[in-house]
Amino acid sequence: MNFRALTSKVLRSRTARTLAGSVALTLFLVQLAVYLPSVYTQYSGLVREQSGTARTLVQVGLYGSQPQSMEFQDGVIDESLVGLVLLDSTGRLLLNKGNTLDFDPAAAELPEKSGWVYPAAWQLQGVESSVSAIGFLDRSGILKASLIKASALSVFALLSSILAGLVALFGAARSYIMPMERLIGVLREHRQNSEGQVPEPIKVITDDDLKPLAEEFNGMIEAQRKAARQVKVKQQYLEFAAHHDPLTHLPNRLMFENTLRTTVQETLASDLRFSIFLVDLDNFKFFNDQYGHLVGDKMVAEVGNRLRTMMRDIDLVARLDGDEFVVIQKDVDASVCAEEVAAKIMSVATAPYEYRGFTLKTAVSVGISSFPDDVHVQQDEQMLGEEMVNNAAVALQEAKSNGKNQYQLFNEKMRLRLTARIRLEQDLKIAMQDNQFEVYYQPKINIHTRQCTGAEALVRWRHPVNGFVSPEAFVPVAEETGLIIELGAWILQTACNKTRELQSMGYEGLNVAVNISAVQFTDGNLLPMVSKALEVSGLSPELLELEITESAVMHDPEEVISSLHELSEHGMKLAIDDFGTGYSSLAYLKRFPVNTLKIDRAFITDISNDNDDVAIVEAVLGLGKHFNMKVVAEGVEDEEQLNFLKSQGCDIAQGYFISKPLSSEQYNHWLERWPFGVQEKPVPDIVLELPAPEEPIRKAG
Ligand code: C2E
Ligand code: MG
Ligand code: MG
Repeated sequence: MNFRALTSKVLRSRTARTLAGSVALTLFLVQLAVYLPSVYTQYSGLVREQSGTARTLVQVGLYGSQPQSMEFQDGVIDESLVGLVLLDSTGRLLLNKGNTLDFDPAAAELPEKSGWVYPAAWQLQGVESSVSAIGFLDRSGILKASLIKASALSVFALLSSILAGLVALFGAARSYIMPMERLIGVLREHRQNSEGQVPEPIKVITDDDLKPLAEEFNGMIEAQRKAARQVKVKQQYLEFAAHHDPLTHLPNRLMFENTLRTTVQETLASDLRFSIFLVDLDNFKFFNDQYGHLVGDKMVAEVGNRLRTMMRDIDLVARLDGDEFVVIQKDVDASVCAEEVAAKIMSVATAPYEYRGFTLKTAVSVGISSFPDDVHVQQDEQMLGEEMVNNAAVALQEAKSNGKNQYQLFNEKMRLRLTARIRLEQDLKIAMQDNQFEVYYQPKINIHTRQCTGAEALVRWRHPVNGFVSPEAFVPVAEETGLIIELGAWILQTACNKTRELQSMGYEGLNVAVNISAVQFTDGNLLPMVSKALEVSGLSPELLELEITESAVMHDPEEVISSLHELSEHGMKLAIDDFGTGYSSLAYLKRFPVNTLKIDRAFITDISNDNDDVAIVEAVLGLGKHFNMKVVAEGVEDEEQLNFLKSQGCDIAQGYFISKPLSSEQYNHWLERWPFGVQEKPVPDIVLELPAPEEPIRKAG
């Protein structure tokens, strides 16, 4: 049953009730109309009679008039009457003629009928108080007629019966109609405004008809209240969930942003300052991989809890992302040093944590930005907040790139770097649209035959204002912004097209090495992208070598191993770039389906002077030989280096001594003019047997 149905039920019940009530009222009025005149006639006759007699008696009593013969009508004074009683207005007995109050009917000698009234009247002489009642008593002492009192009683009885009738009517109206009307009113109001407040329940009245309706109504109200309560609880929960992080129960990013805005407003209106601390767990991915996500979550929750406990209630501790927290320290005066707070944050967050028998420990990096010192105050509150966060993020980045496990306060130099960085990001996007990139090719040669084996494709950015921008400056930014995906695909396609073009010009055996960044590797789209480039260009896969830096490979070796296998199965060659700089695990190296190791140029540069570098180069060559991989030496700048590498059995060399990176056109010219010719077939995978060094190239010491 709903409120609509209940309303119509109540209305039907009221109609029936009103009908029944009207009939009852009509009957009552008809009765009144019929009986009232006759009752009145009888009554007024009686009153007239009795009051006439009483008047006479009272006159006799009060004024001591001579006794007169009093005529009593029949039916009022009869044979049985033996006494007369007079009472005053206070009910005091004035006269008890005939000693009637302790009258003994057996012993008494009755006065003559005509005689006893007179003595009574005589006795009234001198009585001053007014007489309120006169009663005649019969032989048994029972009051037979009470003249004045009787009249008063009769009037009272009539009035009271009418009053009782009215009271009964009013009561009926009150108990029948009014609750009903109220119920209807409440129902109507409720239906008109069902969005509004839930009405109060109606008090159940002792009315068999209305009671069930009211109870039904109350039941519905209760159900509605319960539903409203549940909705409220749900709303409260949703409100909480919208502003809090489910793992740590700390405020989330949304609440942080709101709080930051209000904190900026409040601080602008005061002399105080505030600071924000971006806290990021170091190497958290590694932690997760090592202990599992469950333990990682516990760690995050623990750090969040410790930060919350450490800070004051007025401060905000929020979780922004997986392992990133932010603390707003509010209302800070000049005496408070942000560095002290940062140091405390670090010691609290990095304290050991016991979990299921493990002692867990994490390091954190903290970036700090303070208001208003670190911002341009001429901005609006929103922008000031954003600037604070950006600055703290820059400081955090600084802490990370300086070796992690430390805090950094934002400073002006960082801001300049940030501005330059933002500009670079914007310019990069434009560069992609405006085709400002070019692919250059740096030839590689077989050290033993000196024939060109191919080239490494290296991207170049011709900035319209700044000229050439080094890939070392913009590739990391392209990686961070994700632009490398689009850019990398373009480079790969261009390099494959170029190499295919050279093939058609007769340079059959030339290969091309293309640098692939870690972002492209983890993107999940590498194989389709490479396959497409090969398909579009028509280049065969064994002429394409993909260079991945050692650090990218070691970042997530297991993941990389499976991707490398996939690529290798499709016939592409794989090289580990900058080998020797990225702490390769030799155990992993064994499992990588890699064809080539590229010794980082840092080890080649000083090879003539640095014994350590010699040892490293020898070790890498030994490894390559052992694992049946080709070894390419990068950064060969002179003949001495080349000869040394040759004596050590290195296969391939690349560097300024052979050629700088060349534009596509320059590369064509270079190939035409290279005196040792060009590799006619692709370089085989099997390492060449080492010829003995022709002469000792390197002097001892
Ligand atoms: P890399 O892959 O190790 O490239 C070799 C770098 O060494 C190139 O710098 C090259 O110009 C430079 N180089 C070659 N021979 C010599 C030499 O004899 N002496 C000296 N001093 N340097 C030499 P470049 O072109 O500035 O590239 C720097 C790095 O940028 C590359 O290192 C590579 O990591 C990245 N990069 C370049 N092009 C691309 C690209 O197309 N895609 C991706 N993902 N990264 C690229
Ligand atoms: Mg490279
Ligand atoms: Mg390299």
